[in-house]
Amino acid sequence: MKRGKLKRKRIKRTLGRIIRKTVPNPKKTKIGLWREWLVPDGAYHRYEGLRGVYWYWLSREIRQNEWEKWDGRCLTCLEPLEDWRQGQCGHIVASAGCGEYLRFNPINLTLQHDACNNPRFTPNASALNAVHYDQRYGDGAWEKLYAMRKLEAKHPTQAQYRTLISNLNSFKEAFKMAQQSLTLKE
Ligand SMILES: [Zn+2]
Repeated sequence: MKRGKLKRKRIKRTLGRIIRKTVPNPKKTKIGLWREWLVPDGAYHRYEGLRGVYWYWLSREIRQNEWEKWDGRCLTCLEPLEDWRQGQCGHIVASAGCGEYLRFNPINLTLQHDACNNPRFTPNASALNAVHYDQRYGDGAWEKLYAMRKLEAKHPTQAQYRTLISNLNSFKEAFKMAQQSLTLKE
């Protein structure tokens, strides 16, 4: 058996143990799916099902990475955030028009203040994002990114979502912690 496959099997087994201890009927409830993937109750559901779970962990991963990489600064206003958890994971080419290829693609995701990611408070965010994106990645970078909104892509399958989530460091960390607390309880 391949190493990756074995690892996934192990993750599945441990997840099973965590679920049995915390969720009475995980398959029967919507919240059961989220708990199965260690999303805290009360978390914001931007998308349904595994797509929502993936967004939850991806958003954390992107915010933390961007915060560390760019001195804690928001792409839109370039002011630092004290902590990445205070910001949002925003789309550089806005999610309404970015297409499926860019919707979950790290190259189109960044850390922003809540207000900078809200057109009501920051109507010129797209222009600011474009200018600052080129400053970070070089002239013409934003134009290349913008052109990618037309690339075709399908939604990932359920199995692909599971792999995508399992490969995120944000999820792996949470998984490790859940595993540790489970061992402590036993
Ligand atoms: Zn900002």
